[in-house]
Amino acid sequence: MKRLSILGSTGSIGVSTLEIVAEHPDRFRVVAMTAGRNLDLLQKQIRRFQPRLVAVLSAADAEILKDALGASGPTIVSGIEGLIACACHEEADMVLSAIVGAAGLIPTMAAIEAGKDVALANKETLVTAGSLVMAAVARKGVRLFPVDSEHSAIFQSLIGHRRGDVRRLILTASGGPFRNRSLAELQRVTPAEALAHPNWSMGRKISIDSATMMNKGLEVIEARWLFDLPGERISVHIHPQSVVHSMVEYQDGSVIAQLGIPDMKAPIAYALSYPERLPLNLPPLDLCRLGSLSFEPPDGHRFACLELAYGALRDGGSAPAVLNAANEMAVEAFLAGEISFLAIPEIIRATLANHRVLPLNHIDEVLRADRWARDEARKLIHSSV
Ligand code: NAD
Ligand code: MG
Repeated sequence: MKRLSILGSTGSIGVSTLEIVAEHPDRFRVVAMTAGRNLDLLQKQIRRFQPRLVAVLSAADAEILKDALGASGPTIVSGIEGLIACACHEEADMVLSAIVGAAGLIPTMAAIEAGKDVALANKETLVTAGSLVMAAVARKGVRLFPVDSEHSAIFQSLIGHRRGDVRRLILTASGGPFRNRSLAELQRVTPAEALAHPNWSMGRKISIDSATMMNKGLEVIEARWLFDLPGERISVHIHPQSVVHSMVEYQDGSVIAQLGIPDMKAPIAYALSYPERLPLNLPPLDLCRLGSLSFEPPDGHRFACLELAYGALRDGGSAPAVLNAANEMAVEAFLAGEISFLAIPEIIRATLANHRVLPLNHIDEVLRADRWARDEARKLIHSSV
């Protein structure tokens, strides 16, 4: 029996994780869960999974939940302290980190510092603070299992091979809903169109990141830290079918890939049950029916975010945290109808250009860079509208 703390239980990844738990009640028990604002769904989840501890963002929401659940309900806490308490719950064997954005960093770090193994969906944790997070993982001797499908594929493709034999990692990208749009067309795309991903059903922020290809840029940085390889040895191939989830190329030219239908349940389950594989209620991959798989290079002209991410990775230090924070601000502004789709990379580029890169020795420096970038991006957004 593995006891789980689920950070972000009401999100797309959180819900899929709870489906796996529900299918395997003999394997998993939920001891803690956290959510932002979706109280209705959270209440249903609490009644179904009976965690001991629950955290929400605001103290007012915590009171509403307490009233609704009564004395027999779990302990309800709130705010960042509440998130940390769930991340460090003494009964948790593993923490699933599935909050969206840089808000996931502090609770994920707290879980590592408390000696918990982490199943990591929140890629922003590694993007903003990769060197500090990996140092803490090594110091605490905990394990970090990737949930992101590309990184799970690479993790699986590395098993049984020598790290020194790896030549490069190849991340696949669907190309998102706008893969074939011209620059002129991209100028006019709406949030609703950008939210409609062809292959994956995901939260709003990552859906926009997929449409701009910033998601792949964040994943290149995530891979740099998870697998300890420089950006020059991490490539991206556009693969519209999302069947080959990613690949590892070895020095003899062999390429090992992991394939499957595009459903996050598979990589989530593998992170939870490694090294075992759980039976999952998913349709099989039918390659004959699919007929063909295709690959093409990414177009940096139409999708500038990918190159911005490679640049931030090269600059190092605080640059990726600034890239990430500016992206979060720009995505929010796009979703609110304040800026155009093509303004997203422009806001990020301008924020990075105004930033003096500093080395990161402490998590507070990450938070300072994050705050600076949000302020800077906000100014740029308001001066652009
Ligand atoms: P989502 O928006 O569907 O859910 C996010 C969860 O975090 C919700 O429970 C929400 O209530 C909570 N939350 C939001 N803001 C918060 C805050 N400030 N403080 C505390 N909690 C907060 O997001 P998602 O699509 O499930 O993605 C979660 C993470 O997993 C992201 O980092 C994303 O990049 C990564 N990821 C998602 C997918 C996917 O298929 N959805 C795939 C790979 C990686
Ligand atoms: Mg991914």
